[in-house]
Amino acid sequence: MANSEDCDVLVIGGGPAGSTISTLLAREGRKVVLLEKDHHPRFHIGESLLPGNVALFDQLGVRDEVARIGMPKFGIEFVPPNGDARSYVDFAEGWDPKLDSAWQVRRSELDEVLFRHAGKSGALAIEGAQVRSVAFDDTGADVTAQMADGSQRHWRARFVVDASGRDTFLSKKLGTKQKNADHNSTALFGHFRNARRLPGKREGNISICWFDHGWFWFIPLADGTTSVGAVCWAYYLKARDKPLKDYFFDTIALCPELHDRLQGAELVDDAVHATGNFSYSSTQATGDKYLLIGDAFAFIDPMFSSGVFLAMQGGFDGAQHVATALDRPEALRAAREALEQRMRAGPRDYSWFIYRATNPTIRDMFMHPKNVFKVKQGLMSLLAADLHHGPAFRRSLFMF
Ligand code: FAD
Repeated sequence: MANSEDCDVLVIGGGPAGSTISTLLAREGRKVVLLEKDHHPRFHIGESLLPGNVALFDQLGVRDEVARIGMPKFGIEFVPPNGDARSYVDFAEGWDPKLDSAWQVRRSELDEVLFRHAGKSGALAIEGAQVRSVAFDDTGADVTAQMADGSQRHWRARFVVDASGRDTFLSKKLGTKQKNADHNSTALFGHFRNARRLPGKREGNISICWFDHGWFWFIPLADGTTSVGAVCWAYYLKARDKPLKDYFFDTIALCPELHDRLQGAELVDDAVHATGNFSYSSTQATGDKYLLIGDAFAFIDPMFSSGVFLAMQGGFDGAQHVATALDRPEALRAAREALEQRMRAGPRDYSWFIYRATNPTIRDMFMHPKNVFKVKQGLMSLLAADLHHGPAFRRSLFMF
């Protein structure tokens, strides 16, 4: 294509997945172009991280920066609607006690840290650049992006990584996106000042409060505000007969404990937001010249805060895969098969648990985990993102 610039890898989307893989590939000396349609800092929902993220921040070299913006988090509180019989579980109760903490973050801040870090690591990280077309051939792809000033820029890339999040740029283009019809929900959320938090070391822990039509998150942030969101099943939202804000507060009233914690709290900017929450995945994560990571590949219910971890882990696994595709094409077929399996394992394990935790007949067993047959240990390991123990986790649950 005329006027096109050459690169080894073009990454679509500068969220956690795209910035992570760009950093790792640029560090290897590869010519990486990272295109983000928005400008950082930009709002994004998804503020609770897992202990498994910490090691990834370490390897990227951003742990101290994340610690500066984060609220320390050591576990989870499960709260039934009436607030009785709450249970607290600490990450340290999992198989690997070193995976004992994480942070709650404002995503505008975290995502900017990761994106700027990719730039500092040698990637050409460009904001205000929306990828509009990708045309593959035997040796790579022609990519066109629309720039913020209305102009177009073209690249010739040997390999393309789709990290476009829930825009799912490539799986829509390739027709590989499959919605999970069994999981259809909408999230309503807002930020509050002066919400009552847990005392002491538990102040930063996430609370998950369930009710008949879905579940709530309560995520304390470092600046004193608290993110509160309701993931509601589709039929409940369809019945909405009043403005979003009123409906949100009516929904909060269905959880007296949560309602109580928000007495006297102030809704920041008087704003309630809504976002659709379909679970989906692509039938394939890899092609000869491309790879899908993070939400561009799969999205599951955010109940256990696994999204950013899976996105960044996809960046780490993906970087190795791209190296194989570029340097050892004879090994690509086997690498693709292995990565396809690995990419599906994380969403599958979390979905297994989410299905049970949202099923009213067996929910209590999972929301009040006891360590019979090491079930609690297994669950806490999964919730800490200790996927290395995945097989052990499944074994313990099959004994259940
Ligand atoms: P994103 O973070 O979405 O980044 C994709 C980027 O690509 C965006 O910046 C976008 O602007 C850019 N982009 C899109 N299209 C283009 C294009 N054509 N050209 C250029 N750029 C493009 N996860 C957690 O870990 N913890 C939580 O508590 C949590 N809560 C959640 C609550 C809700 C209601 C939802 C919906 C999700 C939640 N998640 C949570 C999930 C989490 O937000 C995502 O899994 C995570 O952001 C995925 O990262 P990503 O890099 O794949 O995608």
